[in-house]
Amino acid sequence: MRIDLHTHSRVSDGTSSPAELMHEAASAGVDVVALTDHDSTAGWTEASAAVGAAQVALVRGAEISCTAGGISVHLLSYLHDPEDGPLSAVLDASRASRDGRAQAMVARLAEDLDLTWADVQAQAGDGATIGRPHLADALVAKGYVADRAEAFASLLSPAGKYYVRYGAPAAVDAVRLVRAAGGVPVFAHPRASARGRIVEEPVIREMASAGLAGLEVDHRDHTEADREHLRVLAAELGLFVTGSSDYHGSGKPNRLGEHTSSAEVLQVIEAEGHLEVVYP
Ligand code: AMP
Ligand code: FE
Ligand code: FE
Ligand code: ZN
Repeated sequence: MRIDLHTHSRVSDGTSSPAELMHEAASAGVDVVALTDHDSTAGWTEASAAVGAAQVALVRGAEISCTAGGISVHLLSYLHDPEDGPLSAVLDASRASRDGRAQAMVARLAEDLDLTWADVQAQAGDGATIGRPHLADALVAKGYVADRAEAFASLLSPAGKYYVRYGAPAAVDAVRLVRAAGGVPVFAHPRASARGRIVEEPVIREMASAGLAGLEVDHRDHTEADREHLRVLAAELGLFVTGSSDYHGSGKPNRLGEHTSSAEVLQVIEAEGHLEVVYP
């Protein structure tokens, strides 16, 4: 069984629709895929409806934007109740904050470049969680950069003058919120240092005390040393480890199924999660 527990669709900053993603997973030889759009569960219905045709099982999830000491942190949640009031209020607030932040970045960029909010909206699906990838796509469309990677390394870099932060919950609070909503929380790419500063170990320990279930270890943004460090820490803290692609369609080179998770881990997620996995 090939299990990929971290992917994105056009509901956030991926480039495929949720249904297309399910079929792409089938073509990639993936048997179980988790749809984990940023701060949104809006793709769950469409992805669930495609399970039968694609013959790929679906783990309904989300990747929740968080902060820890000013550092941007991503928390994966699996199988939580999408109707849970406190958690959905936090996700709604994050999406709203992201919209304001993206508009503020466009305003800064527009002082030097020909770029409008409409250009960015044209790159995002209806109601999608807006992120820097959509700004990147607009900059590519205008010919300012060749691809998303170049945009992130230059105009959209946190070190640059156009960057604006957005509001998000503290990671420890998000772990509690996810558990209270019946979800299974996993720290996404905890040591992806190429994206910016990473949290120190005490933050992970605090998250574990709050109910964290696992650490994403096998991920292309982790070195072999990062993975070894995380495996040792997970064993000490009683956390499971996952491997995932963090697929974003054509928006990133990550290939579906390039890293996978074990059937044992999937069993734990199913046992602890409020929702069921959707099987063909
Ligand atoms: P944001 O959350 O809006 O600040 O944007 C971060 C998102 O951009 C993450 O979800 C990443 O998947 C994506 N991202 C980060 N670096 C790159 C890159 N070099 N190329 C493409 N996407 C990236
Ligand atoms: Fe993303
Ligand atoms: Fe992430
Ligand atoms: Zn992701």
